Amino acid sequence: MLPLIPFNKPYFSGNETRYIEQAVRSGKISGDGLFTQRVHQFFEEQLGFHKVLLTTSCTDALEMAALLLNIGPGDEVIMPSFTFVSTANAFVLRGATVVFADSTALNPNLDAAALESLVTPRTRVIVPVHYAGIACDMGAIQAVATRHELAVVEDAAHAIDSYYRGQTLGTLGTLGAFSFHETKNIISGEGGMLAINDERLAARAEVIREKGTTRTAFYRGEVDKYGWVDLGSSFLPSDIIAAYLWAQLENLADIQQQRRAIWQRYYAALAPLQQQGIGLPVLPDFATNNGHLFYLICRSLPERTALLAHLKQRGIWAVFHYLPLHQSPYYAARHDGRALPWAELYADQLVRLPLFHELSEADQRRITDEVLGFYQTY
Ligand SMILES: *Cc1c(COP(=O)(O)O)cnc(C)c1O
Repeated sequence: MLPLIPFNKPYFSGNETRYIEQAVRSGKISGDGLFTQRVHQFFEEQLGFHKVLLTTSCTDALEMAALLLNIGPGDEVIMPSFTFVSTANAFVLRGATVVFADSTALNPNLDAAALESLVTPRTRVIVPVHYAGIACDMGAIQAVATRHELAVVEDAAHAIDSYYRGQTLGTLGTLGAFSFHETKNIISGEGGMLAINDERLAARAEVIREKGTTRTAFYRGEVDKYGWVDLGSSFLPSDIIAAYLWAQLENLADIQQQRRAIWQRYYAALAPLQQQGIGLPVLPDFATNNGHLFYLICRSLPERTALLAHLKQRGIWAVFHYLPLHQSPYYAARHDGRALPWAELYADQLVRLPLFHELSEADQRRITDEVLGFYQTY
């Protein structure tokens, strides 16, 4: 029996534990310590972000976004149905109504061409999700947002080090939310980040992240005592988390190069399947590939079930992805009833293949051989 190939294996550079020990020995392991400052600086000085704040998760960054934009009952928020539950929860928690958009035929990203038809006088926010790190059509989305004076919150959980026409994803909308969950490219176990691209929201973002207090400004010496001035919660991570993250960021270039190389090998080996009608990722010319995930689109649900079983039997853990939120037990009754055929298709037919830093070329060949073998007979 060949060894099991997991779907994911968290990347570990070796320096994570060293930096965590440093953080512990420094005597300050609560939020906004030395490593947090280092990480903030790296994003702001090296990666083209205006202002960032580390959070305990992307979920928290999205919740901060909903608070910052004063979303409340009666407000409508447009987002794709084919996304993670946190994209919606953040706004539903504020009492908003989610209006689900369909995905495009090309890839699971939100269909910007149909966006305008979903806008009503109650619409406040559009939330594009850059699925697989592939940019949504931000030009078209921004145009609708500008025309109707809407905020844009990019769910950039998959999208670290990826670009739309040369601009860093997460910096194009009003706000951007990133994840450092262990399944993402750059990780800290759990972790996230809010990118604040509208300067007018920066001061309040710090307050909301620190339980609605002016504590952050107090530590900078800008106010002489700190108090409760706004709504907020505890959205800031321990410096131990930031220490782990710093070791990952130091290796950003290597991580990304390796993931892209694996992605390219998958693409080259599996491209012939397109002649049989099996779909591979499609990148519009405005988008870049950050090697976050590699997927196939099967021709039917039974075919996907058979492919996953075939791979599992041979020790390979491939997985499907989101169930469409408009059909979820929680939201189905609240959904306006529109069919979203592309979201449903991706939910039924998309397969993600193992993709992680340590995946060897030999193991990857095993995976592609098994996929090709399956399609010789299916
Ligand atoms: C992973 C993910 C999230 C949530 O990230 P957490 O850091 O686990 O909260 C949100 N949106 C998308 C699209 C994701 O893939």
